[in-house]
Amino acid sequence: MKHLPTQNSAVAQILLAWYDQQGRSLPWRGLRNPYAIWLSEIILQQTRVEQGLPYWQRFLRELPTLDDLARAEPEVVKGLWSGLGYYRRADLLHRAAKHLVEHGWPSGYEMWRGVPGVGPYTAGALASILDGEPVPALDGNAYRVYARLSDWRSPIDSAASKAFIAEFAGARMPAQRPGDFNQAIMDLAQALCVPRKPRCPSCPISDFCLARQNGSAEGLPTKVRNPKVRAESWHFAVAHKDGQFGLVQRPASGIWSGLFAPVQLDSAPNGLEPEVVTHRLSHRALTLNMYRVSEGFADFTHWMTPEEWRSRGMPQAFVHWMTKFTYI
Ligand code: SF4
Repeated sequence: MKHLPTQNSAVAQILLAWYDQQGRSLPWRGLRNPYAIWLSEIILQQTRVEQGLPYWQRFLRELPTLDDLARAEPEVVKGLWSGLGYYRRADLLHRAAKHLVEHGWPSGYEMWRGVPGVGPYTAGALASILDGEPVPALDGNAYRVYARLSDWRSPIDSAASKAFIAEFAGARMPAQRPGDFNQAIMDLAQALCVPRKPRCPSCPISDFCLARQNGSAEGLPTKVRNPKVRAESWHFAVAHKDGQFGLVQRPASGIWSGLFAPVQLDSAPNGLEPEVVTHRLSHRALTLNMYRVSEGFADFTHWMTPEEWRSRGMPQAFVHWMTKFTYI
């Protein structure tokens, strides 16, 4: 059994050959347009490709250049983002566009880290794809692949493990085609090196995988703990007249910042039965209690049809409620 070689290794050549044959065919791959590529990376943060792809296409159709995005009204950007969730990312995208117009496209990992909304993973992806810099792009999928390749058994969510994987991966980045190499790792994670029951017999680099050699692949990576999920119950007043819903704009900070929502109440109003829907956020399990009230019940500052509301960015929790109770 071979050990995983280091820089410019056979592993890179084998994996890149596999990627050329079997990598996913995605419309932004092979483009040289930094705007289209940056947009794809931002949209795909915490989002599946199938879900993000139509949004990427819609942004490019409606706002085809970086200048168009930077100059767009915030409501337009939120509207294009509507339905993707994590609306803070839409704000960051808009801020980043203005930053990029002002400062120009970055060159290299460190400069990318200075762009709003670009964390370590995205900076690695963009620097390797656009600038040819041999830096790894490490998200949960890549950590899984590298933890298995190196048979790293310590909990992956510790600082020491992250430092080890960053060093291990960094030493194995090829000087040629580093962007394709990072994307090949992603495709391997998605197609073969899956969380449960990795398909090692089909894996092109199984000869170099220490976890495969030691029979530990399926149990890796290990984790210290699951983040605690807090259960919360929230109450909202819903006024409805002539096909429109009474709404207010949420504060500029906090959950659903700047978006429109029914009026949130401190507690359940007396004598009213709610329409109940549950919604999961990263660390919260929300129960939304929606109470039908008259239009004078609260100060509803905006009235919108469901279509108008969606076009201005309807939080996903309310999409669930409206779907469940057939308002949309
Ligand atoms: S051999 Fe198995 S565990 Fe190792 S990288 Fe390939 S799919 Fe993942």
